[in-house]
Amino acid sequence: MRQLIRNIAIFDGTGTAPVPGAVVVEGEAIAAVLHDEAAIAAVEADVVIDGQGATLMPGMVDAHTHLTWGSSVEKIYHQFILPPDELKVAAWRNARVLLDHGYTSLYSAGALGDQIEPELARAIEAGETPGPRLIPSTLERSPEGEEGVETGDVFNGRGPDAMRAFVAYCAEEGVKSLKLVISGEDALKPGSSADILYTDEEMLAAGEAAREAGLWIATHAYSPRAIALALEAGARILYHCSFADDAAVDAMAAKKDEIFYAPGPGVSVAALEASPPPHINMSSMKASAAERLELEKTLVPKLKARGVRILPGGDYGFPFNPHGRNARDLEHFVTYYGFTPAEALSAATMLGGQLMGQQVGHVKPGYLADLLLVDGDPTQDVRILQDANNIKMIMLGGQMHKSPAAQPVNA
Ligand SMILES: [Zn+2]
Repeated sequence: MRQLIRNIAIFDGTGTAPVPGAVVVEGEAIAAVLHDEAAIAAVEADVVIDGQGATLMPGMVDAHTHLTWGSSVEKIYHQFILPPDELKVAAWRNARVLLDHGYTSLYSAGALGDQIEPELARAIEAGETPGPRLIPSTLERSPEGEEGVETGDVFNGRGPDAMRAFVAYCAEEGVKSLKLVISGEDALKPGSSADILYTDEEMLAAGEAAREAGLWIATHAYSPRAIALALEAGARILYHCSFADDAAVDAMAAKKDEIFYAPGPGVSVAALEASPPPHINMSSMKASAAERLELEKTLVPKLKARGVRILPGGDYGFPFNPHGRNARDLEHFVTYYGFTPAEALSAATMLGGQLMGQQVGHVKPGYLADLLLVDGDPTQDVRILQDANNIKMIMLGGQMHKSPAAQPVNA
């Protein structure tokens, strides 16, 4: 089927201003991007969509997603670890909620169940349930199990062999990116962000095994030493990195073509804004969030200036930071990190597509037709994307997830 989307301003993902034109979608991919009126008029299409002057842009990519962190704008859970049945329901719901909010690709930063995401990724791909493209993960691995959930067997344990066993397990389960918690987490255990949970031998073994198995590595890393370990292991994406020093910045910049960085401002800003009920004490989480955001205000622009690819995605899924608000990260990039709106948009689309390792994130012939039609110009104000009502159309691989409303025909 050939679809023509016309009367639009096209934001192609690169960061340049939207340009009037039309897009031809053939099957699941973009066949042509046209700017010439005569060429547009000559297109023979099965379906013509009049964009009515809206902005057409690539679907967004979230680089740090936890679908099994239950809470979304549709349903807030006040317990963090859900019973297994509810956990699966929440993950499947959250995938759909993210797609409803313009996210067509997700890179998982770890799950609270070991098989939920590979199963969900398969179901989405088979068209059994609506959801974005998903790089699935599994339980986050930490050596002693004290930073995450108690899991036993391959998710904990010390030594290079334990790391190889974990990688083998992930490969067997259909995981595409495994998650290693290298740093402690202040928000959970005050004062632990400087802790280092793995040795060089363990990280090197994990990196080698992951490369052999064709898996990617995502890392929770705060301190310079944790960043060094992540880079040593060949991590694809580094999260947070808030305490990076100049040497760590140099080390990340030296690997700028191999790595991605997602600071994750969403959870920090939401923690600072949260007013929890009296029985919930968020004081250490708030203190940690304030400290990190302050450091990142200087750090992120430095890494950006060195050409490191920096992506939105901010640990959504807590009751105070529910899924569906993910586009707030783009605003945070502008407010805290000095990005222009167009740069934040490009990070969420083109750079996100590079992270996914798929032909997504660009409005360009040959790329998959993961496209949004947005009321207004998000390169002027990225906050437009925070309201799903402003997203008139959501297309995933040429298939409509949300069709534009029927339009009156002028006589
Ligand atoms: Zn996370």
